Amino acid sequence: MGGTFDPIHHGHLVAASEVAGQFELDEVVFVPTGRPWQKSAQDVSSPEDRYLMTVIATASNPRFSVSRVDIDREGETYTLDTLRDLRESSPEGTEIFFITGADALSQIFSWHNAHEMFELAHFVGCTRPGHTLSDPGFPDGGVSLVEVPALAISSTDIRARVAGGDPVWYLVPDGVVQYISKRGLYRGAS
Ligand code: ATP
Ligand code: MG
Repeated sequence: MGGTFDPIHHGHLVAASEVAGQFELDEVVFVPTGRPWQKSAQDVSSPEDRYLMTVIATASNPRFSVSRVDIDREGETYTLDTLRDLRESSPEGTEIFFITGADALSQIFSWHNAHEMFELAHFVGCTRPGHTLSDPGFPDGGVSLVEVPALAISSTDIRARVAGGDPVWYLVPDGVVQYISKRGLYRGAS
C-alpha cells in the first residue's frame, strides 16, 4: 500500500485491512513515498518521521509490515520503481497488488506507463468519502475498485487539527498521537 502517510491514520489502516480481506492477501506492505512527485518537498514531513509513524501504526498486526524501498531511493518516487524494487525483493511467484486511493491511481496512470506497471502488479483503488469515481480514466482491466467503510479522515485534516490545537486521538493510532507530540510535528502546518 503506497502513500505519503503524513501521518498514517485509521482510514489507511481500515482500507488496507478491507482490501486484504477481499483479496485474501497474505501480507500488506506499507510503502511510504520518498519524495512524492505530486507534492512539494517543504510541505511534507521527513521520510524518517513518516516511516517511523507507519511502523508504529502497523506494529501490532502480524500481517502488516513497512518497506523502505521508496524512502531509501534517491530522487522522486515513481510507482514503476516501487513495483520493480518490491518484485526484486519478493520470492518467485509472489503476486503483487498495489493498493492506494482511487484518487491517487488516476494521477499515477495519467503520467506513467500503465502497460508496464500492469505486468508487475494488480492495482486496487480504494474509494473514500468525498471522492466520486464516475470517470476515473483507468486503462481497461488491471484495476479493481474497493469500497472502503466510510472514514472521513485525511492526513490534511489531521495536520490542520494538530496546528490548531485540536485533538487527534482515535483518528490515528495512540502511538502516532504520541509520536506527533514528541517530535512536535505539524505545529506550524496549514
Ligand atoms: P493528504 O490529505 O496529505 O493527501 P491522505 O489522507 O490522502 O493525505 P495519503 O498518504 O495521501 O493520505 O494516502 C494514501 C492513499 O490512501 C491515498 O491515495 C488516499 O486516497 C487513500 N486514503 C486516505 N485516506 C483514506 C480514507 N479515509 N479512506 C480510504 N482511503 C484513504
Ligand atoms: Mg491524499
